[in-house]
Amino acid sequence: TIGALALDAEGNLAGACTTSGAAYKMHGRVGDSPLIGAGLFVDGEIGGACATGLGEAVIRTAGSAMVVEQMRNGKSPAEACEIVVKRIIKTHKNKLEDLQVGFLALNKDGEYGGYSIRSGFNFAVVDNTDKGNRMEDAPFKM
Ligand code: ASP
Repeated sequence: TIGALALDAEGNLAGACTTSGAAYKMHGRVGDSPLIGAGLFVDGEIGGACATGLGEAVIRTAGSAMVVEQMRNGKSPAEACEIVVKRIIKTHKNKLEDLQVGFLALNKDGEYGGYSIRSGFNFAVVDNTDKGNRMEDAPFKM
């Protein structure tokens, strides 16, 4: 899945995502990406979040909406992603083998962060700081 979150100079937030879906998926499967609140959620007052990884696990937890709710309750984007990833780990503790889910989040102040179950989740950052355009690795649990 490719997810994108954006904040413009006037404070408007936007998000988008696209996916090829899960490998070997059943015909007709609907993953998390087309479901608002699962693969993507944006609240213009708070921030946005998007997901990658096993869509069924993201759908079960309304993942991206939960990340935004954590930010609404005062968590940073990075903390919000970590909380929801850890919730998914907890609810899937008997079937964790190979499970990967990652979230990326951006808030109204332009702070961003990500977190994933396993390594390998990275994201591109484009902003007007003197750091330039760059890739960052999301922290992960295992
Ligand atoms: N989230 C996608 C899905 O389950 C898969 C992916 O992230 O590659 O459809």
